[in-house]
Amino acid sequence: MAHIYPYTYFGNQLVSHADAKLSVASSAVLYGLSVYTVFHVTVHNGRYLAFRLEDHYRRLVHSCNIIGIDTFSEDWPYEAFRSAMTKLLHKNIPTGNVFVRASFHIDTELPGTRSRGLAAVLSAFVYDADPILPTDNIKLGVSSWRRTPDISIPARAKVNGGYVNSVLARQAALDQGYDDAIFLDENGHVTELSAANIFIVRDGTLITPGQSADILEGINRRTIIELATQEGISTQERPLDRTELYIANEIFVTGTSAFIAQVESVDGRPIGPAHPITDRLRPLYQSALTNPDSVYLDELL
Ligand code: PMP
Repeated sequence: MAHIYPYTYFGNQLVSHADAKLSVASSAVLYGLSVYTVFHVTVHNGRYLAFRLEDHYRRLVHSCNIIGIDTFSEDWPYEAFRSAMTKLLHKNIPTGNVFVRASFHIDTELPGTRSRGLAAVLSAFVYDADPILPTDNIKLGVSSWRRTPDISIPARAKVNGGYVNSVLARQAALDQGYDDAIFLDENGHVTELSAANIFIVRDGTLITPGQSADILEGINRRTIIELATQEGISTQERPLDRTELYIANEIFVTGTSAFIAQVESVDGRPIGPAHPITDRLRPLYQSALTNPDSVYLDELL
C-alpha cells in the first residue's frame, strides 16, 4: 500500500487524514456515488508541478454532469479547486513525486437512488507516486468480463461505483497470473484495462480505441496521441479487434497510475520483442510529466 500523507482536504478545510470520514449512510458509501480523478505532481526543488490539472478538473465536471451531480462546478470553480490543491500540497510538503486523489462525494444520508440536489463534499489526499503496474514486460489477459457500456454505467464518467467492473476483471486477471485485464465491449472490440488505456503499434502506426469505445477518456492517452503526432508518428483512433492484439508489433498501456507500461504478452501470446515506438515515446512522456519546462505542468504556488 502506498504511503498516504498526513493532511487531507475535506469539505472546506485541511484535516488530519484519519478525520476525513464519510457517513456509512451517505450515498457515496451506499451507492458508490462519488466522482474522482487522480493527478500526478512532480516535486522539483520544492516546487509542486501538477500535470494537466485543468484537464483533470474538466473531467470531474464532465463526470458530475453525466451522473447528475449538480453542485460541483458551483461549489468548486476551477480557481477554488486549484487553490485547495495548492494548500493541500504546501501543508503536506512532499519531497518526492506524488499522486493526488480528488473526489466529490454525495454525503446526504439516505436520500435513496438519485443524484440531484444533494449535499456533497470534496476530498483530496496525497500519496506516493508508486506505479500500479510494472513499467516493463506486463502480461495481460483478455477478460471474460465486458466493459460497462455507455448505456449502463458510462466508462466516460469516473464514478466510484463503476469501478466494481474494473475490480471484477482485474481480480480475475490476477487470479489467472496476469498483471491486468483487457476489457472487450459487448461487440467484442477492445476497450481498455481496469485503470489504463491501451495502444498497439501495427506497421509503424499507433492505434488506440476511439473516444466512443466505452473507455475513460484518459488524460495520458490524449498526451500520448499529442506527443506521437508531434513526433510524426501516424496515429489512429478506431475500433480495435481482439486478434489485432495478437499480431501487434508493440503494445503499451497508459494512465496516471500506470505511467507507460510496455506489454510482454496478451493471452500468453508474446508481443515484440522489440518496441521501438514505445521506447521513443517513453522519454517524451517522462519529460512531459516531470521536466519543469513541460507545457503540461502547472506550478501550484
Ligand atoms: N481507464 C480507466 C478505467 C482508468 O481508471 C484510468 C485511470 N484514471 C485510465 C483509463 C487512464 O486515465 P488517465 O490517463 O486520465 O489517468
